[in-house]
Amino acid sequence: MTGEGHKAFSEESMLDILTCKLLRAIGSKIGRGSSLPGLVCKKIWPKSLRTLKLPDKVIAVTGSNGKTSTVALLCNIAEKAGLKVVSNREGSNQTEGVVTALLSSADPRTRKVDADVVILESDERFCQYTFREFTPSHILITNLFRDQLTRNGHREFVKGELQKGIPDGTVLILNANEPLSCSYGSGREGTVYYGVSAPELREDPGLEHAYDDGAYCPVCGRKMEYDFRISGHVGSFECRKCGYRTPRTAHSVTKAANGKFVIDSTWEIRPQIFNEAYAQNISAAFTTAVEAMGVDPSVAAEALDGLELDNGRVVEFRIGGHSGRFMLCKHENSMAYNAAISTALSDPSEAVTVVFIVDRLSRKYVANDMSWLWDIDFHRLADDKVRKIILSGGFAHDAAERLLVGGVPEEKLIIEPDLDRMMDDVAERSEGYIYAMTCFTDQYKFLDRLKKYSDPSESDSKQGGKTE
Ligand SMILES: [Zn+2]
Repeated sequence: MTGEGHKAFSEESMLDILTCKLLRAIGSKIGRGSSLPGLVCKKIWPKSLRTLKLPDKVIAVTGSNGKTSTVALLCNIAEKAGLKVVSNREGSNQTEGVVTALLSSADPRTRKVDADVVILESDERFCQYTFREFTPSHILITNLFRDQLTRNGHREFVKGELQKGIPDGTVLILNANEPLSCSYGSGREGTVYYGVSAPELREDPGLEHAYDDGAYCPVCGRKMEYDFRISGHVGSFECRKCGYRTPRTAHSVTKAANGKFVIDSTWEIRPQIFNEAYAQNISAAFTTAVEAMGVDPSVAAEALDGLELDNGRVVEFRIGGHSGRFMLCKHENSMAYNAAISTALSDPSEAVTVVFIVDRLSRKYVANDMSWLWDIDFHRLADDKVRKIILSGGFAHDAAERLLVGGVPEEKLIIEPDLDRMMDDVAERSEGYIYAMTCFTDQYKFLDRLKKYSDPSESDSKQGGKTE
């Protein structure tokens, strides 16, 4: 904090914080408690974050996938370890969300944020604006995937944008298995890596991918080799030309069996979701807690074991006599859908039905680019275990075309663009356990309609009560 900065804030040093607290109280009543206060305060006092007194540990989490879950896991570990946490975990991950979280938890007189640790989710393209105002002690970067093409362009572009938001002196925590984001650590001392090496989570080496973002080395552009892959371009990689390869990890998920992950061959964790994407989230949270927050590994493992996040990302339900599970995915991105497909295929029952809804791509912008459908390994749904695939929403026929080209037998498909009629199909024509997947843009089109089908004989806990 500079003397000039302090002077500039001496008069309004209370006003920005008090205004934020007031707006947050009002905003929470109209559902805008996380972004509106920050938006207003940022306009009036654009530099007020610079004069806040933050704790030593300020951990930012960014990347294409897994931010929200990893932040939630981290907050749970920190709280279990007895640390006081300030986070934007339930709010906006753009600059205004960070302003709201920090200002509203600061003391108006001392400008001190009342926390032992600050844990912030940040949109990967907003880091360059947010971290101009303060320097996080650590930035965890989960991965860089093709994501929201119409907004983000290609992932190499996002890599450059995020690079502008990484301050000197911040310690990076990187996914050792994702080559593009991992390359931020090249030549950067003190970087911490986490990974997943469990043999059970490795892909069948014969699996064909819809696309391969791991084909070429992100450092020198030559062909890259893999010892194994976990999902798409995530795996154990090596460029024989320049030597860029999966670095040594501080911590890793070394085993995944019987619904449990084992970290460092020692710590057993029963995860809420058993798939390759969640294994990466667990590894990221464990490593960050231990290496950045100084939490004892046994405390971190205990906090993660059996932890069920209550954020609506997984909802168990009953419909037409079938049990099912809703899994929140992300349109315009392959990772969550590929992981949800893995979960469906590893279901212990003989038969499963998959429900896939694409009605609208985004709440924020109008787009009809469906190229991302071709990035997801939908051809895996040709597996005999998958008996029916119900496709719905405005883009149901685009989805059907994608599956048919991928070799999924036509007789498995039920194409019903109308969402109400789709629900009747789910109730009447499903076989076995149901996996329903869609994006947050479309999730309530399914979850709200589900309420009409609730079986009065079922308890509340089976009607969507269990959430991630
Ligand atoms: Zn190379």
